[in-house]
Amino acid sequence: MIEFIAAILMAGSMPVANETDMVGLRVRAYADEHVHEAAIRPALEVAEHLLASAGLVVAWRVCDKAQSCTVEAMPVPEIVVILSSRDRQNGRENCGVAAHGARDSAGTVLVSVPCVAGVAFRLTRRPGTGTNPLLAMPRHDDLIGAIVAHEIGHLLGLGHAPAGLMRASLKADDMIALRSGKLRFSPAEASRMRIAALLAGEERLRASAAGSPRDLSRR
Ligand SMILES: [Zn+2]
Repeated sequence: MIEFIAAILMAGSMPVANETDMVGLRVRAYADEHVHEAAIRPALEVAEHLLASAGLVVAWRVCDKAQSCTVEAMPVPEIVVILSSRDRQNGRENCGVAAHGARDSAGTVLVSVPCVAGVAFRLTRRPGTGTNPLLAMPRHDDLIGAIVAHEIGHLLGLGHAPAGLMRASLKADDMIALRSGKLRFSPAEASRMRIAALLAGEERLRASAAGSPRDLSRR
């Protein structure tokens, strides 16, 4: 395990993760009934793409209603993503929050869809940025996806960075980078996330090896 982590740390200097470095991540996603359904899948696809560029393969469970996804009793770390139709009241361009769970690679990400729509609208209206055709696109599902990936980054141990996907608030040039496929996690951020996800997986293995009430009842 230690050697494996060292190998990943060294691999972190490479721009794109090898497929052999890919680490799995389980994510359960909900959207409330007022979130436009057409925005959900494209947003999650953008998040998936950004996380894949950091070497994380996401196993999604997209849940229509809170009841439609079973929450497993097994000690499996799973990140929960909630797309909310409620606006955020703090007046800042901070549309996502991440709440850590009991362990790494678990926790909840909440993204306010109207907040993201507002940020996307304002970014496209700033003087001097309105001429770029990438900013003129009337969509914000991609920005939702970027914020989901950013918040999952926080759950996997990342703080804010002066530039890139982990910048505290995304600017017009980040939006252009996102839409031209250039916005991503830095190699160091990607390594750190993969290690956090790997360690959570190790913890899961240890927990199931130790047995659980469900295993005992199976006989
Ligand atoms: Zn943040």
